[in-house]
Amino acid sequence: MSESFDFVIVGKGMMGAAAARHLSLGGARVALVGEPGDWAKHRGVFASHYDNARITRTIDNDPIWARLARRSIERYREIEEASGIEFYYEVGCLIAAPAPSSGFDYLDKVVLARDGLDVDAPLIVGEELAKRFPWFRFPQHYAGILEARGAGYVNPRALVRAQTIAAENSGARVIRAEVVSLEEAVDCVIVTTKDGQSVQAGRVIVAAGGFSLSTALLPRPIDLTVKARTVLFAEVGAEDLARFAGMPSLIGAAFEQEKSYYLLPPVAYADGKHYIKIGGDPTDRILASEPAIREWFRGNASGEAADHLRGGLSEVVAGFKPVSTHFSPCVTSFTRHGYPYIGFASDRIAVLTGGNGQAAKSSDEIGRLGAALVMGGRVDVGEYETDFAIAYR
Ligand SMILES: Cc1cc2nc3c(=O)[nH]c(=O)nc-3n(C[C@H](O)[C@H](O)[C@H](O)COP(=O)(O)OP(=O)(O)OC[C@H]3O[C@@H](n4cnc5c(N)ncnc54)[C@H](O)[C@@H]3O)c2cc1C
Repeated sequence: MSESFDFVIVGKGMMGAAAARHLSLGGARVALVGEPGDWAKHRGVFASHYDNARITRTIDNDPIWARLARRSIERYREIEEASGIEFYYEVGCLIAAPAPSSGFDYLDKVVLARDGLDVDAPLIVGEELAKRFPWFRFPQHYAGILEARGAGYVNPRALVRAQTIAAENSGARVIRAEVVSLEEAVDCVIVTTKDGQSVQAGRVIVAAGGFSLSTALLPRPIDLTVKARTVLFAEVGAEDLARFAGMPSLIGAAFEQEKSYYLLPPVAYADGKHYIKIGGDPTDRILASEPAIREWFRGNASGEAADHLRGGLSEVVAGFKPVSTHFSPCVTSFTRHGYPYIGFASDRIAVLTGGNGQAAKSSDEIGRLGAALVMGGRVDVGEYETDFAIAYR
């Protein structure tokens, strides 16, 4: 007979690992199943968090996303302490765009959001912008909002590791395998992995990122639009590192969407080198099926998008000559209402997915809501003005 748990979570990603921590802290018997191995070796299900930096910040024009972020950020240090793993770097986040009242109202909205959230983040205009951020070269009419405290970046892989360790410390079991089927029996769900293991649980959470599209995991296909993304990494020479000290994360918004981008300061990677990462892939390629997602992850990403990002980088980071550049594939998963799906797809199978390109920073709170769902039998939306309901195709 297969081992039995209160809850099995399919997907040891950002949301799944967070849910596992919250459930096991609540005293439940939990198994967290996912991510068979490292990128280079496995041919299976990939995560949308394979690099070392994701921007984190509270200010968001959408109050629901802002609250999801704030609640998560408030717990970062607690998770670091519980796991002994550092993942949060409070380097600040600068949002730069045409100045308020310039005809493009992006920063006007950011100012409103800032005030509504009561975040201390000054508006920096004119020459002051160039003086405060000597690394960046912005068009003349630009201004910036700097969220200096409670913002910067998280290392998403370290965060998942931290959540997993904290969950294990509270008794969760981690199974490194790919799930190939979920079978609903009368009183449980049987979860079977590719390597032939099987476990069962009263309730299962599917938190498989873009792979939640898979017909093997959910009884009905959810309305999830998975988009291919390419990100560029620019190697920073050892002699250049000191000059980037103090550089914040950067979101650059332009009237033309294809000129908008985000950028992370130099971050160390497993090869011992530091890379500045830039994203803002202007191509809009939809991956319509699970096999298409696998193929995209195993491929080389888009050279065209990488060229676009290389051009953007040379415009924004003044005088920077990367030692080398390379690019990688990733995916973002969009829901119909623009918030994560947190709900039951059947009596015993729940869904926790749909990062909409911005859930890394907020994954702990999203995981907490998912844990509350399966523990209590319904989404306890509390202070949120949405029910996070799943939409189906
Ligand atoms: C290029 C890029 C940049 C981003 N930048 C930011 C940012 O700056 N700030 C921010 O907040 N967010 C950012 N995001 C978004 C963020 O990374 C995602 O929202 C987040 O990773 C989603 O978490 P998830 O748990 O839903 O999915 P994932 O992190 O992808 O985790 C899903 C997990 O499920 C596993 N899985 C899938 N199928 C199976 C199966 N059959 N069996 C077992 N396991 C399975 C996968 O291996 C994976 O580990 C970015 C995303 C991308 C692609």
